[in-house]
Amino acid sequence: MPDALFALPASIDLAIVGAGPHALTLVTHLLQKKKSMRGRFLVFDPRGTWMSQWNHQFAAFEISHLRSPAVHQPDPDPHALRTFAEARPDELFPPYDLPGTRLFQDFCQDVIRRWQLQTCVYPAQVTRMMPFSHHRRSRFCLELSNGQTLIARRVVMANGGSIPQVPEWVEQVVTPYPNDRLLHSGRVDLRGLQLQGERVLIIGGGLTSGHLAIGAIARGAQVFLMARRRVYEKLFDADPGWLGPKYLKDFWAEPDWSTRWQMIQQARNGGSMTPAILTQLRRLQRDGKIVFYEQCQVRGARWSGEHWQVCCNNSAVHECLHNQKIDRIWLATGSQLNATKHPLLKDVLDTYPIEVVKGLPVVDEYLRWQRCELFIMGGLAALQVGPTARNLSGARAVSDRIVPALTKSSLALS
Ligand SMILES: Cc1cc2nc3c(=O)[nH]c(=O)nc-3n(C[C@H](O)[C@H](O)[C@H](O)COP(=O)(O)OP(=O)(O)OC[C@H]3O[C@@H](n4cnc5c(N)ncnc54)[C@H](O)[C@@H]3O)c2cc1C
Repeated sequence: MPDALFALPASIDLAIVGAGPHALTLVTHLLQKKKSMRGRFLVFDPRGTWMSQWNHQFAAFEISHLRSPAVHQPDPDPHALRTFAEARPDELFPPYDLPGTRLFQDFCQDVIRRWQLQTCVYPAQVTRMMPFSHHRRSRFCLELSNGQTLIARRVVMANGGSIPQVPEWVEQVVTPYPNDRLLHSGRVDLRGLQLQGERVLIIGGGLTSGHLAIGAIARGAQVFLMARRRVYEKLFDADPGWLGPKYLKDFWAEPDWSTRWQMIQQARNGGSMTPAILTQLRRLQRDGKIVFYEQCQVRGARWSGEHWQVCCNNSAVHECLHNQKIDRIWLATGSQLNATKHPLLKDVLDTYPIEVVKGLPVVDEYLRWQRCELFIMGGLAALQVGPTARNLSGARAVSDRIVPALTKSSLALS
């Protein structure tokens, strides 16, 4: 863990947990609204720098460009990234000016520099968040991974919030196996991998599967890509109609939280690949480098000592994978959002119980937990913000709700 550039204060007005794109968006919007917030907040992240998890993921999966257009970025000026890219037009990719990975990273560094945010990330993980009452006002005691503690008047959770989704059969593998032979995608790093002659089974039909398949094939592997459903193409995670009133009007008019949850599922509709990636994969399929096992799931797997033997549940339709000696399995099965399983929310849920619908907390319109000054960013805020809550566009929508509550005393809890 990097050393802190400054001493930790005993207390702070606002603690922000996580230094990813959501936190960065919140901070620029907050400072734009109220300059005097400078010096009144601290951001916590174990890696000690902004955007490290994002940068790591893009590098580890060798992603060339974003899925979302240039308008979605952390600066309050919606044109800021386009202006920044004027001298680098070949780093905006069709069809809708999708920023290249390097361009986006450089732009974020520019945002951090312009808003003078280089020194506000404290290098520690928040390991526990204990709410308490001080003169009948809500406060939080944050425990950090370096053993220190601090009191925060208000907290924003901007830590991504999701837990890797692992299929049930993984728990039932009885044979011991080398750790690196069965990995969730979050632990796969294509860089430095040599896969010549290996067979890699990738589970999942989303864009991460696509990136990993292309990376594995480029390193000499044969890939089997297994998906519960038919692999299908879609430009964005959710239809752009979800960015404005077109769909959000009905979503906000819906009073039933479970129905809202269903609307979110329908809008995201599981994992999907971009047309560009799927076209690339179909070409590799024709070259025999990848085999698709669609509408298919793993029934069980055992490690023989040298290889995986895998059975699927749909062997009537295609030749079962059982005959293939698989060297590695990668689970591109996404992540789950569940407030009740989130370690940081345990004490908060005990002290301030709240309705949780299919894992998502029912927070107020400012994305504030009931009866305390805890604010939620990212996918956990989806019941209020809609299906794009976890995306870059969601970061702006979320900030638009949280910033007023952080800056107007009339909106503070008594
Ligand atoms: C490979 C990939 C590509 C994506 N591409 C796009 C895209 O092109 N466009 C788009 O709109 N969306 C995209 N997304 C979805 C989404 O925008 C990203 O997941 C984004 O990183 C979410 O931002 P975040 O700040 O919520 O989370 P993160 O980027 O995950 O940042 C959270 C930070 O919190 C830190 N943290 C976690 N727990 C703690 C703790 N207890 N204490 C302190 N710090 C903590 C982590 O170290 C991390 O740095 C992509 C997602 C993935 C996985």
